[in-house]
Amino acid sequence: MRHLALLLLGLALPAQAHDHKHEHAHHHHAHVHGQAQLEVAVADAELHLRLESPLEAVLGFERAPRNDKERAAVAALRQTLAAGERLFVTTAAAGCRMSAAKVESDLLDGKAGAGQDGHGDLVAEYRFVCAQPTRLTGLEVRLFEAFPKLRRLEAQVAGSRGQTAKRLTAKMRFLSW
Ligand SMILES: [Zn+2]
Repeated sequence: MRHLALLLLGLALPAQAHDHKHEHAHHHHAHVHGQAQLEVAVADAELHLRLESPLEAVLGFERAPRNDKERAAVAALRQTLAAGERLFVTTAAAGCRMSAAKVESDLLDGKAGAGQDGHGDLVAEYRFVCAQPTRLTGLEVRLFEAFPKLRRLEAQVAGSRGQTAKRLTAKMRFLSW
C-alpha cells in the first residue's frame, strides 16, 4: 500500500506528468537498458539530431551523483555529448558544421529526484548546418566507442524522401539516406 501511495504521489507531480506526455508524443518505446533512440531530420541545409538514452547506457547510474567521482563522471558525460561533431560524422563533402547542441536530463539537471521506478533518461539535441546540403547522404554514429554500455541504437531518419528506420550497433554504425 505504501508503495502505491508513493507512486500516485509521484504521478501527481507536474514534472512527472509532463515527462509522461512528452514521451508519448514523440515515441512509443520503453526505457530499455543498453538501448537508445536517435531521430534524424534532414531539411534544406539543416540536419537535426535528437538522441534519447537511458542514463545507464551513457553514465552507468540513474540518479543524481553522490560523490566527487560520480560528479566527475557527469561532467565528462556532458563534455562528451557537447562535442557532437565527434559523435556524429556527416558526409565530408557536405561541409556540415554543428551550430547548436543541448543536453538535458531531469535527473542530472536537478529538476527531478530519482524516478519513481528508479530510472532516468537523457536527451541530447544537435543542429548542423551544411554548406553543400545535396551532398549530405549519411552519418557515421560513433556513440558506441564513447559509450561501451550502449548496445543498440534505434534510428529514424526523416528527409525529403520519406522516413526510414534502422537499428545501429557497434558493427553497423552507418546511417544513409
Ligand atoms: Zn534505467
